[in-house]
Amino acid sequence: MQSCVKVLIDGSSSDLSFSYLVPPEMEVGPGARVLVPLRGREAIGTVMALEEIDTSALSYQLKPVSKVVGSQPFLTPALLKLADWIAGYYMCSVESVYRTMLPKPARGREEKEKKAKLVRLSRTALTNPASRDDIPKTAKKQVEAFLELQEAGEAGILLSEITGARGFGRSTISGLESKGLVEVVDVKVNRDPTADQVFVPSKPLIPNPEQVVVLDKIKKASGPNLEKAPKPILLYGVTGSGKTEVYLQSIQHVLEMGMGAIVLVPEIALTPQTANRFKQRFAHIQNEVAILHSNLSEGERHDEWKKVLDRKARIVIGARSAIFSPIDNLGLIVVDEEHENSYKQDSTPRYQARDLAVVRGALEKCPVVLGSATPSLESWKNVEVGKYELAEMLLRVDDRKLPLIRILDMKLEKQKQGGGLAILSTKLQQAMQKRLDDGEQTILFLNRRGFSRSMLCPKCGYVANCRHCTTTMTFHQRDDKLVCHICGFSQLPPRRCPECGAKDIVNAGFGTERVESVLKEFFKGARIARIDTDTMRKKNALRDTLDAFRAKKIDIIIGTQMIAKGLHFPNVTLVGMLNADTGLHIPDFRAGERTFQLLTQVAGRAGRGELEGEVVVQTFTPHHPAIQFGRHHDFIGFAEQELAMRKMFGHPPYVHVTLITARSKHQERAEFSLKTLHLRLARDLPQEIEMTEPLPSPLVKSHDQWRFQVVMKAVNPRKISAHIRSVMKDMTFPEDVIVTFDVDCYQMS
Ligand code: ADP
Ligand code: ZN
Repeated sequence: MQSCVKVLIDGSSSDLSFSYLVPPEMEVGPGARVLVPLRGREAIGTVMALEEIDTSALSYQLKPVSKVVGSQPFLTPALLKLADWIAGYYMCSVESVYRTMLPKPARGREEKEKKAKLVRLSRTALTNPASRDDIPKTAKKQVEAFLELQEAGEAGILLSEITGARGFGRSTISGLESKGLVEVVDVKVNRDPTADQVFVPSKPLIPNPEQVVVLDKIKKASGPNLEKAPKPILLYGVTGSGKTEVYLQSIQHVLEMGMGAIVLVPEIALTPQTANRFKQRFAHIQNEVAILHSNLSEGERHDEWKKVLDRKARIVIGARSAIFSPIDNLGLIVVDEEHENSYKQDSTPRYQARDLAVVRGALEKCPVVLGSATPSLESWKNVEVGKYELAEMLLRVDDRKLPLIRILDMKLEKQKQGGGLAILSTKLQQAMQKRLDDGEQTILFLNRRGFSRSMLCPKCGYVANCRHCTTTMTFHQRDDKLVCHICGFSQLPPRRCPECGAKDIVNAGFGTERVESVLKEFFKGARIARIDTDTMRKKNALRDTLDAFRAKKIDIIIGTQMIAKGLHFPNVTLVGMLNADTGLHIPDFRAGERTFQLLTQVAGRAGRGELEGEVVVQTFTPHHPAIQFGRHHDFIGFAEQELAMRKMFGHPPYVHVTLITARSKHQERAEFSLKTLHLRLARDLPQEIEMTEPLPSPLVKSHDQWRFQVVMKAVNPRKISAHIRSVMKDMTFPEDVIVTFDVDCYQMS
C-alpha cells in the first residue's frame, strides 16, 4: 500500500480525477493545491482526498506529486464536502465549485507574495530638508510630491496611492528619483481595505427582553463538538428591532468559545455602515475581522481570504461567496436579510448562499441564524413544517413606533396634475417641504436609474431599442447617451425619429436622474444627492455621500434600491417611494413578494431616531395585496395569503423549479436545440415532474444571444436533476449553443 492523493485538475469539466503518489518527505492533505505531471506537462489541481493504493496491482506506474502550493490546504474538509453537495444539487462540475471557492490570486502555481512599491524620501532628503532646492521652481508637481512625502516621513506612501488617489504622475516620481531625492522600493504589504479608517470601539448594549430570548436560543444552540446539527433559526425581526445587535453578541459568544463566525450580507446592503458596526464592536481585535465584497480589488480580496486561512481572522463579513470562507472551527453562520435575491448566483455554479449556509451548518454542526424583517416564503414554510426554529422580535428598540405609511393613488394624482409625468404627488411635495423647513431629512426611492425609461416617437410609435437585446434603451442626460441596462451597450440619442424623421421625439417615463433634476427645480437651495450605480462608480463615493448625509450636509437623497437596506439615519423622518408598483407588472410569481419586501425595507429607513417617521408610497395599484399588507406592516398576513396562493397554483416553496435555457447567437439553433432537449425530456418523464412547453424566454434576446426555455417543477428537486442527467448523458448540442440548468431559479427571464 502506498500513500496517494486523488487530484482534480483545474479546468476539467468531467470531474475525472487522477491518482498520484505522495513522496515520503511531502506533507499534503485534502484540499491542498498541488502541481502534478500530466501528459508531459505540469498541471495544477486540488487534492480531493487521500487514498491508500496497492500500486503493485496496477498495470501502470503512478507518478508522484511534484509540489504542494502554499504551506497548508486551501480548502477545509467541510468545504470539500460542501463542494460535492453543490455539484450534485446544482448540476455543475466539482471543479467549477472549487474555482468559485478560491479567490483568483490563490489559484496560481505559487503562493502570492503580496508586494507593492513604496515611495519615500531618500535618506539624504529626509535628513536634509534643504535638498528640496534641487528641484527647479518650475517643476511644481515635484515640489508638491516632495512635501507630501516629507510629511509621510520614513513610512513613505504606496506608489499606487501617490499616483492614484493623490493624483501625481509616475513621471513626477521618476523626476524626483533621478535627482536622488526619493527611492522606490518593494515592500510586503497586507492590502487592508479599511486601513484608512479609524474604528471607535462600541460596547455591547444591554439586550432588551426580546433580544434576551433570542440570544438565549442562539447560545443554547452553539458550542464546540455538538452531537448533532442544531436546527437553523429564522429570526423574524421587524426593521429596527435590534437584529444586528443580536448578531454581534452571538458572535462575541462564539469567539469566547474559541470558534469563528461567518456573517452574510446581501451585496447591496454591504454598505460601509454594516461592515463598520462589526469593525467597531470588534475594534480591539480588528485584524480578526475579514471583509469580503465585490468592491475589493482582487489583491485585497485575496489578502482578506488569506487572513482567514491563516487563522488570523475568525470573523468574516461578506456577500454571498463569503459562505466559502475557510474557517475551520465554525461556531455560527448568520445570514442577514435572508430573503434577498442577491444570495443567488446567476452564473455557474448557480448556488443560493442562504441555502448553502444551512447545508454548511449541518455539515459543521453549527447554528445558522437567518434574519429578516420580511423572511422569504421558503424559510417561512420551513418554520411551518418544523425544519427551522422561529425566533421573533416584533418591537422596535425603545418601543419606537413603526412609521405611518400613506398610500397615494397616482391615477388620481395624474388626473389632478392634468396628465404629464406626475413624478411627485402634491402630498409628497408638501411633506418634503416641511422636512426642509424643520431641518429634517428625506430619502426618496425609485427603482430605475437614468433619465427616462425610454425614448419614443409620438408620431410613428418608434421606440429606441437595444440592437443586442430585446429591450428599450434608457436615456442618460448627463452623459447624453442611450444605454441598455441589460448589456451596457450605449449610443448617441437620436435628435429626430430615425423612422419617420419627426423632430419631437420624447423621453417617456422617468428614472433617478430625471427626478434629481426635477427636485432641484422644486426645492431651490435644498442640498440634493443622487445615489445609483451611475453616480457611485468611484471608489468610496458611496461612503462619502452617506457620511455627508449623516453629517446633515445633504437634505434629500434620491436613490435606487442600493440604499433601501440596512441604512440607519436617525434624522430621516420622511421616506418616499415613487413607483411602488414597477415590480408588479413583471410576469413573475414572486413579484408580489418582492414588492412587499421592498416596501417594508424602504419604510424601515424612516423614524429610526427620536423623531417619528412617515412614509409616502406612490402607486398605480393601491389595492394590490402586497401594498395593502405592506402598509399595515403585516408580514404574517401577507405570508398567509401569498402561501395559500402559491400552494393553489403550484409555485415555490411548495415545489422546486429548475429553469432550462438554451442560448445561441443563432435563433434557430437555440430554438431547435431546446425543442430537441424538450422532446427527450418528455419521453419517460417521471410522473412527479411537471414540465412546460419550450418557449421563448421573456427576454428573448440578450447580449446578442437568443434564448429559449423550459421550466420543470417537482416537489423533490433531485428527481428533476436525476432525469435531466440521464437525458443529457447522450445528448450533444451544436458548439455555439449553450444550455444551462438553473436549479431553484429566481429569475424567470
Ligand atoms: P435591525 O438590524 O433589526 O434593523 P439594529 O440592530 O440596527 O436593528 O438596531 C436599531 C437601533 O437600535 C440601532 O441604533 C441599535 O444600536 C439600537 N439598539 C439595538 N439594540 C439595542 C439595545 N438593546 N439597547 C439600546 N439600543 C439598541
Ligand atoms: Zn443590450
